[in-house]
Amino acid sequence: AGFIWANAIASATTTKGAGTFVAVWTGWTCVHRVVSKLRYHFWYISLRLREYNLERYTSQRPLCVDVLQSRDEGIYLMCGIVGYTGSDIAKNILVTGLKRMEYRGYDSSGVALEVGEGAAAHLDVIRRVGKVAGLESELSNIDSDATCGIGHTRWATHGKPSVVNAHPHTSCDGRIAIVHNGIIENFAELREELEGRGHHFKSETDTEVFAHLIEEAYAETHDLMASVREACTHVVGAYGLAAVCADEPGVIAVARKDSPIVVGAGETGAYVASDVIALIDATRDVVVLEDGQFAKLTPAGVEYTDEAGNVIELKVTHIDWDLDMAEKGGYPDFMLKEIHEQPRVV
Ligand code: GLU
Repeated sequence: AGFIWANAIASATTTKGAGTFVAVWTGWTCVHRVVSKLRYHFWYISLRLREYNLERYTSQRPLCVDVLQSRDEGIYLMCGIVGYTGSDIAKNILVTGLKRMEYRGYDSSGVALEVGEGAAAHLDVIRRVGKVAGLESELSNIDSDATCGIGHTRWATHGKPSVVNAHPHTSCDGRIAIVHNGIIENFAELREELEGRGHHFKSETDTEVFAHLIEEAYAETHDLMASVREACTHVVGAYGLAAVCADEPGVIAVARKDSPIVVGAGETGAYVASDVIALIDATRDVVVLEDGQFAKLTPAGVEYTDEAGNVIELKVTHIDWDLDMAEKGGYPDFMLKEIHEQPRVV
């Protein structure tokens, strides 16, 4: 700009130069306008994208309640969490739950199963891009009698749909696995800090920071539920989260902020899901977690705590509608459901 100004002023000392000055000035003004307009458009697009993401996640909160009551919000949710710990074979329950939530849309899926006992205990993580049916056929080739596990259908927000970006994500030592719905807004800072402390990241997701934060806290506390609570204090954003740890067989630690989580206990164990539809077969008495509430699932039942770790009592809601209604989002038929979903489709 300085060069153009200097030239323009020098040229302006002659009549011919005055013409050049006007031409340069007009040219410069045009370039300036185009750049400002482009900057405005980029800003506008990024604002809309942010609004879209926020709408996607904050809309899940009222919907979760609707899922249990009137369902008048329609179905807009994507991605899903399911978890089970008890006496039945976990992989079957997880796959059934994930299939129930397929209607939300997703790009990949995966499960983490607790295998082995004592010193041999470890987590098996199986992930696939594409349909849950692909994951199901892979799981059918695995002879797993695991009775505790977590599963996920992912709708990518950070990092392309791929096997390494699919959930569950694991800690450096592979002893902790997590599934997450939502967006971690401060993941870039957290990732930098964690890498600085020697953590190795395997994926491009925002989610993976959670696995490493829990791992760090676990080194201090040796308590999965307390470590999840501690990890949440560092995270800004929306999350429905379920975590398992090979050193605490049978335990699933659950947290929630602005992303729905439903917990239930049946005859043969405890269940968690991001949509009641995934656990309606097992139990009709469920607890809808509120932000800042945590659940520790074991085969014997569920314990709820607040942010400070105090045990709390939560209201149990009875589901009195059937699966058919649930699948139609509370609408009498799929056509009405689709009509009500129209304004929400982007
Ligand atoms: N933000 C996470 C990811 O991109 C979770 C997406 C989801 O909610 O499925 O992996």
